[in-house]
Amino acid sequence: MSLFENTLAQMRRAAQLMKLDVNIEEILRHPERIIEVSVPVKMDDGRLRVFRGFRVQHNSIRGPYKGGIRFHPKIEMDEVKALATWMTMKCAVVGIPLGGAKGGVVVDPKELSVRELERLTRQYTVALSPFIGPELDIPAPDVYTNPQIMAWIADEYSKLKGKNVLGVVTGKDLAVGGSEGRASATSQGGIYILEEYLKEMQMEPKGMTVIVQGFGNAGANVARILHEDGFKVLAVSDSKGALVCDEGLEPEKALSCKVDKGKVGECVLAGQSCRMVSNAELLELECDVLILSALENQITKDNVDKVKAKLILELANGPITPEADEVLAEKGIKIIPDILANAGGVTVSYFELVQNQQNFYWGEEEVQKKLRGIMCDAWHAVRDNSVKFNCSYREAAFITAMKRLESAIKLRRGN
Ligand code: NAD
Repeated sequence: MSLFENTLAQMRRAAQLMKLDVNIEEILRHPERIIEVSVPVKMDDGRLRVFRGFRVQHNSIRGPYKGGIRFHPKIEMDEVKALATWMTMKCAVVGIPLGGAKGGVVVDPKELSVRELERLTRQYTVALSPFIGPELDIPAPDVYTNPQIMAWIADEYSKLKGKNVLGVVTGKDLAVGGSEGRASATSQGGIYILEEYLKEMQMEPKGMTVIVQGFGNAGANVARILHEDGFKVLAVSDSKGALVCDEGLEPEKALSCKVDKGKVGECVLAGQSCRMVSNAELLELECDVLILSALENQITKDNVDKVKAKLILELANGPITPEADEVLAEKGIKIIPDILANAGGVTVSYFELVQNQQNFYWGEEEVQKKLRGIMCDAWHAVRDNSVKFNCSYREAAFITAMKRLESAIKLRRGN
């Protein structure tokens, strides 16, 4: 099954449970617009290379399209369609007035110089410029894109429009219209839900063991904050391997070591009993909470039997395949699903857009208060639907989202 077919299967199951109007489901099965662009870039050695870029605008019934841009050598249209659909669901789950989109460029950014990366980003912006804007479609960072890339997009788009349009992208640095709290929002949003879940289950978070797959924006921040909150972070990993410390590790130290060595697995921390293991082994370790914050399709029918975590928090999009999802449910392993767990990122992106539009900026405390409120409300809605429909949190998250989308479609377009 392709990633987009997985997404449609998830929607189908929830639609059946909630008895969703078939016409509404049909609308949601199809992206509204698919854009494919060629991006010519002059390389440093004078050659010209043409990169392929995409933007999928899935649904805008609840507001302008919103979703990240991924620079990755293996990105495909099918994957972008799935990610765009999840964005529509995500914005609806947390009840923010935005729709869903996703974009990408087929490129390995690690092979480009900084100047080449800047030229690629600016050319991609030019190619997409008729289709993006603060009231139309607002990109953001995703895998291998970052605040610097967002600053280049905002700058190029502003030049094209002849005025400052900082709200064309979110995830910007504070110096160019970013929001307090955005850098760690995805992780912090997931943690607000995790802590609320544990409170309701009357479980004590202090000392709980955590394993984090993926040590980038989402993974490194979640490890750092959970460590500060008293959880015991046993292991972290990046694409090159994993670091396991039986007594727990200090994520800040692991991160600075990763910056030096390029691989977190080799960061055997002084004075601690740490070892490097493979990415496959990381997923098989015992822990209270496994946090998936790398890429899609990490737990599949081939490795699901070996997973020993008690609870899984999906900060990555689509890290568990539908077949593996069923096996985990049979094993009694609860999953806090991606479209809910990682929605903190798009929520603070929404705050950033609002602040850009009013040109008035909030402090960190205000951002956190608003973020916590939205995440906890979304969790309560999902939890209530999981009880009402006797279903998993993933199915309940889709039901929560599709009910809101159904209302908007019916009110705007009729029955
Ligand atoms: P990132 O590029 O900052 O980090 C990705 C990390 O995953 C890197 O450390 C990379 O080395 C690691 N990785 C890749 N393959 C791996 C593997 N097989 N095993 C272990 N580690 C591996 O990206 P990010 O922004 O942190 O995004 C991670 C995931 O979270 C993606 O699925 C993304 O769509 C999702 N997400 C991110 C945000 C956000 O605000 N950054 C918001 C919502 C969802």
